[in-house]
Amino acid sequence: MTMTQPSNFKLLTNETAIDLTKKLGLLHSDDSLLCNEIGDGNLNYVFHVTNPVTNKGVIIKQAVPYAKVLGESWPLTLKRSAIEANALIQFRSYCPELVPQVYYSDEQLAITVMEDLSHLKIARTGLIEGDHFPLLSKHIGEFVAKTAFYTSDFHLEPAAKKEVARNFTNPELCKITEVFIFTDPFLEEHPGEFELELLEAAKSIWKDADLILEVAKLKQSFESEQEALLHGDLHTGSIFASDTETKVIDPEFAFYGPVGFDLGQYMANLLFQAVTREATGKEEIFTHLQEFWNTFEETYTNLWNSENKSPYSKIEGYLPYVLNKFKGDAYGFAGCELIRRTIGLSHVADLNGIENKKTRITAKTATLKIGAHIIKNRKELNIPAVIEAVKQYTLPSYSAL
Ligand code: ADP
Ligand code: MG
Repeated sequence: MTMTQPSNFKLLTNETAIDLTKKLGLLHSDDSLLCNEIGDGNLNYVFHVTNPVTNKGVIIKQAVPYAKVLGESWPLTLKRSAIEANALIQFRSYCPELVPQVYYSDEQLAITVMEDLSHLKIARTGLIEGDHFPLLSKHIGEFVAKTAFYTSDFHLEPAAKKEVARNFTNPELCKITEVFIFTDPFLEEHPGEFELELLEAAKSIWKDADLILEVAKLKQSFESEQEALLHGDLHTGSIFASDTETKVIDPEFAFYGPVGFDLGQYMANLLFQAVTREATGKEEIFTHLQEFWNTFEETYTNLWNSENKSPYSKIEGYLPYVLNKFKGDAYGFAGCELIRRTIGLSHVADLNGIENKKTRITAKTATLKIGAHIIKNRKELNIPAVIEAVKQYTLPSYSAL
C-alpha cells in the first residue's frame, strides 16, 4: 500500500544522516564519518553515525509514517517523534543521569539526534544473558517516582499541568496500547499470535468474566486518568543498562495517564525473567522487584513530604491512599502486559527465545496464569505476594500448594 507522506518529510539515508551530523557540528565533523542503520524496533529507523578517529558517535532516530510491525496499512503520525524528543528533554530535566541528551530535533523530518549509548546493553538482552544490572531497578524506581511526581498536580500549577498534558496528547500511539494491550488479547474474536498448545489457557482467559471486567476497568483508567506524564512503553527493551549506568529511551508513547501503567509495565517485564529463570536466578529478579518498589515508594514519599504543593498534602492518610492506588493499578497493568505479550501480537524474547517447546509453553502458561491472578487480586497484593504467586505457578515444589 502506498502512503502519502507529509510534503516536507524525507527518509534519511546513511549519507544524509552523516551530512546532518556534520551540519550540526557534532563529532569533529572535519573527519570522515561512518553510518549504519541499527534499528531493531518496529516503528522507526535508527542511524548510528560514528567518527572512527575519535570513536565517538551520535544516534539519529527517524520516525516513518506507518508502523513497521503492523504493516504499512497502520498509518502513524510523525508527531510521535516530537513527542519522544520533548519527553526525553522533560524527563532528563528531572533525572539527568537516567535519560540521554537530545542534541537536536526536527518535527517536520521526524528526527531526534541524541547521545550515543552504544557502550550500554538493552536491559532485556542483558537480563536474558544473565547480566545482573545491580542498580537497574533502583534507577527505574527513581525515574518513575520523579517523573510521576514532578509532572503531576502535586507539583505543577493546575493550568501548567493541563498545558503540558495538551502538548503530550498522543491519541494514535495510545490507540495502539488500547487495542493491543487492553482489547485484542482478551477477546476471542480478535486472536493474536500464539502456539496452538496455549489455546486452552487462552480460552480460560476469554471465558473469565470476572477477569474481563477488571481489564475493562483498567482500560478505562488508561483512557481517562491524567495523573502524570508517562513514558508509556517502559519495558526492558526501552532501557539501556550496565552495572553502573541506566538510561531510559524511546518515550514515543508518552502521554498523560495513570502512574501505575509505567510501574506495571516495568514489573511485568521483570516477571518474564522471574518466570523463565531457574530458582537462584528467580531470587535475583525478586530482589529487583522489591528494590524497584521500595525505591519508587521512598523517592515518591520524599518528594511528597518536601515539595508537594497540594493544600491537603499533610492530611493523614492521603499519601498512603495515593501510593496504594498506584500499587493496585500497577499490578493490574502488569497483568495485562503479561497476558498481551503471551497471546497478543507483540511478543518478548524472554519467552519466545526459549527453544525447547515444552519449556516455552510451560513458561507461557505460567505468565497467563500469573497475569490473570494479579489483575484480579491487584488491590490486595504486595511484592512478597506477587513473588509467592510466581513461585506457585512456576516451581514444581510449589505446585502442590
Ligand atoms: P523503536 O521505537 O523503533 O522501538 P528504539 O528507540 O527502541 O526504537 O531504538 C531501537 C534500537 O536502536 C534500540 O534497541 C537500540 O539498539 C538502538 N538505539 C536507540 N537509541 C539508541 C541510543 N541513544 N544509543 C545507541 N543505540 C540506540
Ligand atoms: Mg518504540
